Amino acid sequence: MGRLLVIGCGGVAQVAIQKCAQNSAVFTEMCLASRTVSKCDALKEKLEKKGTPVKITTATVNADDVNDVINLIKEYQPDAVLNVALPYQDLTIMDACLECKVDYIDTANYEPEDTDEPVWRAAYEKRCKEKGFTAYFDYSYQWAYMDKFKEAGITGLLGTGFDPGVTSVFVAYAKKHYFDEIHTVDILDCNGGDHGYAFATNFNPEINLREVSANGSYWEDGHWVETKPMEIKRVYDFPQVGQKDMYLLHHEEIEALGRNFPEIKRIRFFMTFGQSYLDHMRCLEDVGMLSTSPIMFEGREIVPIQFLKALLPDPASLGPRTVGKTNIGCIFRGIKDGKEKTLFIYNVCDHQECYKELGSQAISYTTGVPAMIGTALVMSGKWKQPGVFTTDEFDPDPYMEMLNEFGLPWVVEENPVMVD
Ligand code: NDP
Repeated sequence: MGRLLVIGCGGVAQVAIQKCAQNSAVFTEMCLASRTVSKCDALKEKLEKKGTPVKITTATVNADDVNDVINLIKEYQPDAVLNVALPYQDLTIMDACLECKVDYIDTANYEPEDTDEPVWRAAYEKRCKEKGFTAYFDYSYQWAYMDKFKEAGITGLLGTGFDPGVTSVFVAYAKKHYFDEIHTVDILDCNGGDHGYAFATNFNPEINLREVSANGSYWEDGHWVETKPMEIKRVYDFPQVGQKDMYLLHHEEIEALGRNFPEIKRIRFFMTFGQSYLDHMRCLEDVGMLSTSPIMFEGREIVPIQFLKALLPDPASLGPRTVGKTNIGCIFRGIKDGKEKTLFIYNVCDHQECYKELGSQAISYTTGVPAMIGTALVMSGKWKQPGVFTTDEFDPDPYMEMLNEFGLPWVVEENPVMVD
């Protein structure tokens, strides 16, 4: 049915691309493009050995350079571009899609690589004061493309991973089928997997460590409430995983849900962390290893967090050694037919099952599958609408059906244990 250009070939991309190959009715041709083309070539070879009917080509691209992306789009003529590189490249790839009038899909919202860059920093500090949260990432940069995408007649689907992505679809689905009004949402992200290392991150270390070392925040009665990093801790007994400590974090889907569902009085996000992870992170932070500001080392400039990334295990290499399950979902409280109602919608994913199927651990798997689903819905026309949208803004039903079909089945549990 269509041609897809995929940019990036890391942990998430490898899953998304293999899942696209399982859906060859929609994805008839694919170009795999990234900074390191050898990863694209290796994946192309793996898929071709398995006898994929998808016609695959590869290309080198530097997605920090808008002209490089424009040239590739002009040459390949895709129907859509799936950005599974890093959030740093969101705006250059969106600009290229706009120039070429091609649909755009990603899994994470924009943040700059250099948070000390003066123009960005001034806008950031103004935003912190106006909005009341201090995370480096927010939707304002990508929502600003709304009118330009409308005029160009192209769709921008933002944040179609698991969280954000599936969690936002769970909210739309709960509203459509189970509630007249939703009053509270707690998004719970539990990784019960064990990779055997004292410290490693499950996706890109730079992005992951920035996210979890930042202040937390939640949405309440129409405004943000900010907390110190890891200040709010709860313990929850997750179905099929067991009891885990979880901590309140700022997370990007809260911003979109707060805007798109003004009836929701409180939205919080919790993620589980083990004590070893937290101890290592605190120590690395104390000595400056999480800094994104360049320093001089033996006559050359290095960025501490990038140096740390080079030392840590590559997230893509965790697959064979990670055992256990993830449980990610949303707990709701609201009203149906005049009565109070509570509900938990979640998915459980097994690290070893993911590894057996695609050679990846569950964090990449739970992000890559929804990246394929969002892209398929845009390319098949079901979620095609000029403008820039998050996943909670479309009909959730076809997305929920595809989660079941492509490896992320979900469970609806009435009267769950609530988070206090
Ligand atoms: P990886 O670091 O494993 O992969 C990133 C890929 O992008 C690599 O192939 C890298 O190339 C490529 N890349 C980086 N910079 C450029 C560039 N300038 N031009 C072209 N290619 C580039 O990251 P992940 O796969 O872990 O994460 C991918 C995305 O998924 C991120 O945006 C992350 O935030 C998001 N994510 C979203 C989640 C969700 O639930 N919504 C959860 C987890 C991740 P090279 O091989 O040369 O390094």
